[in-house]
Amino acid sequence: MVLGSPGVGKGTYTSDLVKKLKLIHISSGDIFRDNIKRETKLGKEVEEFIAEGKLVPDKITIPLMEKRLTEKDCQKGFVLDGFPRNVSQAEAMEKLDPLDLVLNFKANHEVIMGRLGGRIICRQCSHIFHLINLPPKKKGVCDACGGELYQRDDDKPEAIEKRLKLYEDQTLPLIKFYSEKGLLKEVLVNEDYSTHKKVIQAKIMKAIKG
Ligand code: AMP
Repeated sequence: MVLGSPGVGKGTYTSDLVKKLKLIHISSGDIFRDNIKRETKLGKEVEEFIAEGKLVPDKITIPLMEKRLTEKDCQKGFVLDGFPRNVSQAEAMEKLDPLDLVLNFKANHEVIMGRLGGRIICRQCSHIFHLINLPPKKKGVCDACGGELYQRDDDKPEAIEKRLKLYEDQTLPLIKFYSEKGLLKEVLVNEDYSTHKKVIQAKIMKAIKG
């Protein structure tokens, strides 16, 4: 599982990591956004929480993720991104399928703010770009699938502050939870991924092989 403040870059690192390790990338945020896009019942239930930068309630999130993680494509292994997000979700995960390793990505506050403010994402395939650090080849268009790039509502300044506070309040206890289990490895990532991709990937592999 990957852990780290919003904007630390865990989505970007993880999508490259899963390709390398031939694992599946399961992001609870992507599952929610996909449902919102498809206007499903779930999408309608969670839309407001996400737009306001609040956590989706556990009674929705936990059964959804339990169902997803017991699907066949998860049998060969997965990297979780965005779930568990609090201790009750972590306890649910312990019962379902205990994690092997938790990577905790860290960066300085100003680095995080810069990354979140400039993040743009593909409407079709969820690929992540950054206006300055990781721009697409063609403005507004996804390099991977040609989809339209947009700024998530929860990457706008008023939601950013809320998400960072929420992260501290609800997610930091996870760090304690997993560090007590001896599963936590820290990876410091103040560098830009576009110019220091190899350096960051080497740090991640070092933490995994530890
Ligand atoms: P993310 O893409 O991980 O930043 O998630 C975007 C938003 O989806 C979060 O700000 C929450 O509103 C919601 N969300 C994602 N994962 C969870 C989770 N495990 N528990 C509750 N809400 C979540």
